[in-house]
Amino acid sequence: MYTQFQNTSIRVLQSALYQTNACIIQTTEWVLLVDPNWLPLEIEYIKNWVDQHLDNRKLYLLFTHSDYDHIIGYPVFAKAQTIASQAFVERNDQEKILQDIKNFDDQYYISRSYTPVYPPIDVVITESPTYLTLCQHDLHVYPTRGHTNDGLFTIIPDLGIWIAGDYLSDLEFPFIYDSYEHYQATLKLARQIIRQYDIKVMVPGHGSVCTSKEAVLQRIQKDEAYLNDLAEEAKDSSPKADRHNKEGNSKNWEKWAQQYDFPKGLKESHLANLKLVKKRSL
Ligand SMILES: [Zn+2]
Repeated sequence: MYTQFQNTSIRVLQSALYQTNACIIQTTEWVLLVDPNWLPLEIEYIKNWVDQHLDNRKLYLLFTHSDYDHIIGYPVFAKAQTIASQAFVERNDQEKILQDIKNFDDQYYISRSYTPVYPPIDVVITESPTYLTLCQHDLHVYPTRGHTNDGLFTIIPDLGIWIAGDYLSDLEFPFIYDSYEHYQATLKLARQIIRQYDIKVMVPGHGSVCTSKEAVLQRIQKDEAYLNDLAEEAKDSSPKADRHNKEGNSKNWEKWAQQYDFPKGLKESHLANLKLVKKRSL
């Protein structure tokens, strides 16, 4: 599995699919896995690493949110102590998420050595922030909304690590499944985190890590700009010729499509965002 970033405390492993990141964070007392994912061989790679390196340390497993690509590997690490948000635990459509996994595996003829399970959670994050002390280290955990309603920002201040989940990606503009206002609030929180902590590595759910505050700030600004443009575009629903070309693309979409490496798959997400924002302004 491709290691996109590594230092003495964190290793960021990237799946071949959607450049989805899994993390292994280690200290002398514990190992924290984050979102072990996607393909059977990739998950097995992470399992082998844990089998070889855990020793007597405690194993924790953190889920950044409940999208199926992030929980897909859970049963392989079922002995770990699990951490996620209260909204993650309270989702009443857990069957649908498992169905998403099944549909994916059916489509690509993927056999797994286990049956996917919606993760039961041992440590439920309710407050913002929640302070978790794992031996010598503190985790500051903030529930986040906007992408989904059950996300988490997790900061380990003394290691300078920030696990962001599906926010602040260099491959995707904001995908809003929850709400526009909550997404804005999460970006505001992101700004606060950059001011408050000495962040050395920020890991998004997909794409490249950031290793400087400036790089994180640029991503925050870019996502804020996208949200502003989206709201503007949603305000004007008239199919004026100057705003839409013959492929049905708006100027706004064409502007944003150029800014990402894989725009083809993003168009559907942009249209879904637009629909959601228009509905809200009715
Ligand atoms: Zn994701």
